[in-house]
Amino acid sequence: MTTIYNAQWIVPVSTEPFAEGGIAVSDSRIVAVSTRETLGQQFPQAEVRDFGPAAIIPGLVNSHSHLELTAMRGFLENEENDFFAWLKKLTIARLERMTADDLNVSAQWGLCEAARAGVTCVADASDAAFESMNALRAVGLRGLVFQESFGPDPRLAQENFAKLQTKITRLRELETALVKCGVSPHAPYTVCGPQLEMIAQFTLAEELPLMMHAAETLMEVALLREGSGALADGLKNRGIDWQTPGLSTIQYLKQRGILATRPLLAHCIHVDGADIETLGETGSKIAHCPKSNSKLSHGVAPLPKFLKQGIATGLGSDSVASNNVCDLFEEARYALLLARSGSAWKNPDTVLSVHDVLQLATRGGATALGMSEHVGALREGMQADFAIVSLNGVHQIPVYDPVSALIFSSSARDVVLTVVAGREVYRDGRVTNVDEDRLRARMKEISEKLSA
Ligand SMILES: [Zn+2]
Repeated sequence: MTTIYNAQWIVPVSTEPFAEGGIAVSDSRIVAVSTRETLGQQFPQAEVRDFGPAAIIPGLVNSHSHLELTAMRGFLENEENDFFAWLKKLTIARLERMTADDLNVSAQWGLCEAARAGVTCVADASDAAFESMNALRAVGLRGLVFQESFGPDPRLAQENFAKLQTKITRLRELETALVKCGVSPHAPYTVCGPQLEMIAQFTLAEELPLMMHAAETLMEVALLREGSGALADGLKNRGIDWQTPGLSTIQYLKQRGILATRPLLAHCIHVDGADIETLGETGSKIAHCPKSNSKLSHGVAPLPKFLKQGIATGLGSDSVASNNVCDLFEEARYALLLARSGSAWKNPDTVLSVHDVLQLATRGGATALGMSEHVGALREGMQADFAIVSLNGVHQIPVYDPVSALIFSSSARDVVLTVVAGREVYRDGRVTNVDEDRLRARMKEISEKLSA
């Protein structure tokens, strides 16, 4: 059974956009990308669905999320000027007020938002990876779920590492063709050096993907460089013996073996030229989260330099607690405008285009997750992960160039169809695999509990 999806514009990302075409899908794969006429001749028996004034694009890849925290959208606004207080309120609410089912519902709700936004694949960092993986399976998206590990106290490193190993064994049983697990030592300030080394070795031996938050805040820089600041005081107050490495985050992660795993690193804001070279040399990848970085006043990551260095880079929404939406069109637009609003425009090597940021949101993310052979572009033989975006809105017309219209004029709400591995997970205004009304009612309950 073959289905042809036609539209006014086809934006394969791996090749130039073209007009009046479509893609033919058989089971989970794209079997052809061509003009309407050619597809009609090639597949005369196919069911044809025509979306008219719209663009067919590869499914968007959200390279950094925390789906379990979807219930905390707008919950931490009063703590935003103090990241330490922000993390503390989040952690206490998460641990003391949310049940496993609450976390599952929260993750499913985040995935409904993603499906409606044309996102077909997420890289999710989770302390409740079991719930996140189950939520992915329920909603039908593709994803990598990284089980988080915490433990700043070296005396507990072995015990914390053993807990992680047990969890990974259980998570591997939940894996499917679409949903895989990985590991995430949370951050350099929440996981001690010896635990980082154990996790790095385990990751290599088990051939698991690894993601980690890195170089996100100046507090982290002060802790690693000088052993000072709020994070250092916090560790001292807990009686934890913190050995200051006197290095940047990136050099510290190299020293502890993390970069040998070719990790996916979220944020990478506070990095210098030598760090960027190290990231390139080690094959590390970056999840660029420009809106979250700005919302929490963490700074601006040097995106054009990452790209110039050839580092595989994707776009991440981060949790909606610091965004507050999962909208990769908005994220791409913001990434582009932010890169242009500094001094970058003076350097012709660092000017970004609409094509560059659409690439980040699709193929770049797929490459950062090690999936670019299967997803991230519209090409024969690839998995049928794609989205159809209406370009017929008042805010979009006229459309001279579809990529410009997608990046500068469009948002998640313009998506009309989302397909993962040939299955329509969002169509006709509804997420197809879960009951959104039930989830909406549960989200209300959870938010009442959190704000009580
Ligand atoms: Zn994060």
